[in-house]
Amino acid sequence: MATPIESRIRLFLGDITSLDCDAIVTAANEALRGGGGVDGAVHSAAGPELVRASMALAPCPAGEARITDGFNLAAKFVIHAVGPIFHDIETDRETLANAYTSSLSLAAENNAASVAFPCISTGVFGFPPDSACEIAIDAVVNWLRAHDQPEWVTFCCFQSDDHRRYKERLTELRLLS
Ligand code: ADP
Repeated sequence: MATPIESRIRLFLGDITSLDCDAIVTAANEALRGGGGVDGAVHSAAGPELVRASMALAPCPAGEARITDGFNLAAKFVIHAVGPIFHDIETDRETLANAYTSSLSLAAENNAASVAFPCISTGVFGFPPDSACEIAIDAVVNWLRAHDQPEWVTFCCFQSDDHRRYKERLTELRLLS
């Protein structure tokens, strides 16, 4: 029997680079050149080989993702997902959902059983955090309902406000076991 969705979803508060998942997702920019925020933390922890590997796969338009080795990270892979720079909710909603789905698809293709996501686009890219949280959870849940892989998804929040937001939403949906 298929594993229930609620046992495939986890919530974590802290630094994504500390997670021992098969793949961690970084919120990248189209040039895949590294940057600030979560991408800066991932590139520092992975080491300088990461930027060489990611730039070789650029450009990566918003809504898409690319996968590389994790180099010095505990994670085997880094998935570089590019979210939208926020302009308006109607057009950007789908692009943000696609950034999650493209990442999940790459994880599945590469047999990454566990994947952790940061709150893509909610930092410098300015996506309103409540909407971003709903879009992220909907995209992941829809994917998990339709696919066996990846088996586990962790929502990694770096700020306690985001952690509270995800906890509330996941509890509302009865998705926290
Ligand atoms: P974007 O450009 O997509 O907005 P940012 O890196 O600016 O990306 O922010 C995305 C999210 O990543 C924000 O919610 C921010 O709090 C979070 N973040 C920053 N550093 C880390 C980290 N080390 N681990 C996990 N999340 C992080």
